[in-house]
Amino acid sequence: MTSFKDFGLSAPILAALAREGYSAPTPIQAQAIPHLMQGRDLLGIAQTGTGKTAAFALPLIHRLMEPHKRTAPHSARTLVLAPTRELASQIAESFKIYAGDLPISVEVVFGGVSIGRQERALFRGVDVLVATPGRLLDLIDRGSCRLDLVEALVLDEADQMLDLGFVHALKRIAKLVPKKRHTLLFSATMPKQIASLAEGYLTDPVRVAVTPVATTAERVAQHVVPCETRLKQAMLEHLLSDPAFDRVIVFTRTKHGADRVVKHLDRAGIDAAAIHGNKSQPQRERALAAFRDGQIGVLVATDIAARGIDIDGVSHVVNFELPNIPESYVHRIGRTARAGAKGSAVSFCNREEEPYLRDIEKLIRAQIPRLSVPKEVQTRAAEIGRMNRAETEEAILPSRAPRHHAGRPDVGRRGEGHAANEGERNQARGGKGPRGPREQFRARAEGPAAESATREPRRGEANGRPQRSEGAAGGRRFDASGETPRSRAGAPTRKPNAGAPAAAKGGERDGRRPNRQRGPKRRDD
Ligand code: AMP
Repeated sequence: MTSFKDFGLSAPILAALAREGYSAPTPIQAQAIPHLMQGRDLLGIAQTGTGKTAAFALPLIHRLMEPHKRTAPHSARTLVLAPTRELASQIAESFKIYAGDLPISVEVVFGGVSIGRQERALFRGVDVLVATPGRLLDLIDRGSCRLDLVEALVLDEADQMLDLGFVHALKRIAKLVPKKRHTLLFSATMPKQIASLAEGYLTDPVRVAVTPVATTAERVAQHVVPCETRLKQAMLEHLLSDPAFDRVIVFTRTKHGADRVVKHLDRAGIDAAAIHGNKSQPQRERALAAFRDGQIGVLVATDIAARGIDIDGVSHVVNFELPNIPESYVHRIGRTARAGAKGSAVSFCNREEEPYLRDIEKLIRAQIPRLSVPKEVQTRAAEIGRMNRAETEEAILPSRAPRHHAGRPDVGRRGEGHAANEGERNQARGGKGPRGPREQFRARAEGPAAESATREPRRGEANGRPQRSEGAAGGRRFDASGETPRSRAGAPTRKPNAGAPAAAKGGERDGRRPNRQRGPKRRDD
C-alpha cells in the first residue's frame, strides 16, 4: 500500500500529516500527488470528502520550498480559487496545517468582510493566496494584488464556480496569470462546460477521477419521502426525534426557506441555526463552529452557503426541498459520508418537485427507495397548520388575538418542558436572558435583535408572560441523554430506513413542470 513517505514529501510535511493522524493517502491523493510533485497539470474529478484538498496542497507546499523564494509585494506564488467563503477559509486552514513548521505564508480573501485588512495582508506578498474570484478581482482593480508572478493556479470546485456565474471572472483572472504555470482543476462533476474550461486552462493534464462523473457516493444510504409541502415540517421533526439523527444538515432552496425551517424547529424545541447569504460572516462562522462543537445538532443551509463545508461526522442530510439542479443533489449528500464514514440522506419531494427527482435519478443512474409518511406525522402537521393559522390571525388582527395563550396549540403541547419560543423560554426562567450554551449561542448568532427578543415580551402575550399549562425547563431535543421529547412522551419513532420502504406514490401529476433555471444560478451569497 502507498504511504505518504513514498511521495518524497519533505519531513516537516510528513510530521504535520502524522500530527493530523493521516496514516495512508486517500485514493485521490495516491493518484494525484506523484504527478503533481513533478509539476504536471491535473484535472481531478472528485467531490469534497475525498481528501482532494490535501491532494493538491501537499505537493504545492513541497514545491514552494524548492527553493523557498522571497515573495514580491502584492503577489502570490500559489493561487487557489474557490467558489465560496467557507470553502476558501477551509482550504487556507488546511494549507496552514499541512505546512506544519515550514515558513509558508497563507492568506485567504473573500467578499463580505473589510477589504482593508486583506490589502494589508497582501502588502508584502504571500506564498499561498486562497480567494473567491469576485474579491480577488476587486483587490486587483484597487492595485493591491498582482498575478503576474503566480507559479501555481488551482481551481477548486470548478463546476460550482461556473454555476455561480464566475465564468467571466475566471476568464479575466486567466489573462492575468503567466502562461507558463502549474495548473490544477478540480470538479465534482464533469459537464461539457468544465471540459472546455479544462482545455483552455490545462496543458497536457493528467486526469484523475475518484468517483465516476456525477455518481453519488455509494456509502450514502438515500431515501425519498414523497409528501405534500404542508407535511414537510412535521416530517422533519419526526426524523429529528430519532437519536440517530445527531448531526444533521437540512437543505432548503432559498434563504427565506432556511429561516422558516429554523423558526419552526425552534418552536418545536429543536436547536438549529441557518447559514445563508443574508447572514454576516461572523454569524455564519459562529453557526458552523456551534455545529462542529455539537452545541447545535441541526444546521439549515442553502446550497451555496453549504458548499465545501468540511464537517466530519454529519450523520444525515435532509433535503427539505429538492434542488432544481441535479448536480447540487450530489454535492448536498456529499456532506455526509465524509472521510470514509457511512452517511444517510433523506429527501422530501412534493408534486412540483417530482421532475427534479426524475432528473436526479437520471443523473445518479439509480432509483432512490421511497418511504411513506407515518400517521403521526399527519397528525402533527395538522397541529402545525393550526398553529400557523393562529399566529397569522394574531399578527393580522392583534386586537382579536386571545389575551392569553391557554388555548393555543403550541403552548405546553409537546411533552414537558417544551417552550414555544425563545421569549417563552426566557420568561419561564424569569427573564434573565440566555442561559445554556446553546441559547447563548443562538443569542450571539442572531445578533442584538434576537438577544432583545429573549427579553422582551412578544405581541399578544399577556403581561409578556405566555400562559403555559406545563413547566418550561429543559425539553431540548439534543440533550446529553440523547432522549428526545418524543421518546420521553412514549411516541413511536421511526428510522427512515427502518422497515420496508413503502413505495408510496407521489399522487397524480398535474403535468406542470416547475421553472428550471439551468443557466447561472441566482447568487445566494
Ligand atoms: P476534503 O475532500 O479535502 O474536503 O477532505 C475531507 C476530509 O478528509 C477532511 O476532514 C480531511 O482532514 C480528511 N482527510 C484528508 N486526507 C486524509 C487522509 N489521508 N487520511 C485521513 N483523513 C484525511
